[in-house]
Amino acid sequence: MRKGINNKVKEMSKKLKPLSPDQLAYIKNIFDKKGYYKKSGEVWCQCCGRIEHQLPGSLDIDIECGYQCSCGAHLTLVYAPRLNRMYDRAYYSVVQTCQGWQIIRTFNVERNNTKGILTQYDINEVYQNWISPDGEEVILGKSYSRGVNYFFWKYNSDFSIRHHNAKSSGYYAFEDVFDTCGNYFYPKFCITKKLRRNGWKKRIEKLPCVSMAECMKMLLSSNHAETVVKQGQYDVFLHMVRNKWKELEYMNILNICHRNGYMITDASMYFDYIDTLNNLGKDVRNPKYICPDNLYEAHDKALAAWTKIRRAQEQLEEKKSIAEKEKDYKALRGKYFGILITDGTLEIAPLKSVKDFFEEGSEMHHCVYQNKYYKKKDALILSARINGKRVETIEVNLKTYSIVQSRGACNKNTPYHDRIVSLMNRNMNLIKAI
Ligand SMILES: [Zn+2]
Repeated sequence: MRKGINNKVKEMSKKLKPLSPDQLAYIKNIFDKKGYYKKSGEVWCQCCGRIEHQLPGSLDIDIECGYQCSCGAHLTLVYAPRLNRMYDRAYYSVVQTCQGWQIIRTFNVERNNTKGILTQYDINEVYQNWISPDGEEVILGKSYSRGVNYFFWKYNSDFSIRHHNAKSSGYYAFEDVFDTCGNYFYPKFCITKKLRRNGWKKRIEKLPCVSMAECMKMLLSSNHAETVVKQGQYDVFLHMVRNKWKELEYMNILNICHRNGYMITDASMYFDYIDTLNNLGKDVRNPKYICPDNLYEAHDKALAAWTKIRRAQEQLEEKKSIAEKEKDYKALRGKYFGILITDGTLEIAPLKSVKDFFEEGSEMHHCVYQNKYYKKKDALILSARINGKRVETIEVNLKTYSIVQSRGACNKNTPYHDRIVSLMNRNMNLIKAI
């Protein structure tokens, strides 16, 4: 099946005509129109290669406003007194049709400028994206060679079947050679009847940073895309193409927007907003919610409300999970709960519940709770306090009966640190005895 399609494309490709004089003439517009000048008044046009001379100093106004070359190009002047050679290259794509198929033909165009010689354009067709009436894509392309630092086309090779994102080798992620996104397009697109019927508009040709082939495939193969384009929701269409969504989860919402004359200008923000409304249990058929005057404000408000609810839920879940752990902790360390070590000022006692760990952790801004010290093997966690106020948190190893760490808020030592360590060491027997 696929082989049949591929062969058909190969046959059709052989009959394609060379670029028309207009398509060829347009090529000079795809490069920067620059003129390199010298202080002597010499201007070297990069569009035609001519060298023209002005009176020294008379270029001042042209540097501001641009220089008119006798070839007709309006040049931006750049000071480059020693430049003798310039090379530019770009991809140039032309959109055509053939027997109901849509084709994007891409040419590698090189512009060579050597001082004293007229500008030479070297134009080689390198790949063709063929889109069938059903939105299937077949790529024909020349061979190429590439590595991390180089890329070149083998112009003399034959057109063969190629694929997007074909890997060459190794660990380096190469860009997709056959993606026309970023190419310069001949502005007159030839579009198939079916694509026009499905809603193709000039507006789509101007969509930014998106592959035209992908837009064509989407519009030929997705009813939702067709509806969205006909409703004029181009940003939603763009979003569908970028995410390769042939089905739109919120198509019914789009229809309500359409009835209310509401345009979505930032689709990713909009769908995020609708997700949040759904989370909040709001009626997403009500235009009051889904057609906000200011999407950004509405989005922020909805998100703030949802964050508040999430936080409350999380806290509740946390509380539940703490309650579930209490029994285990009591069984593990309960026998130490009676210990109280004091020198009259400092009072040191084990944390007696997982809730204590949670509170100790949040008040002291350290990870005694998050890192689950309540179930750490051979670790007894104690809190040193003065008048009930937390000073440091102590970890004692129950195998070696030594202090592993004693830390104040944010893991810092306090002025009481040495006193706490010494008090603990003097009373370690109390723990050992249990
Ligand atoms: Zn010129």
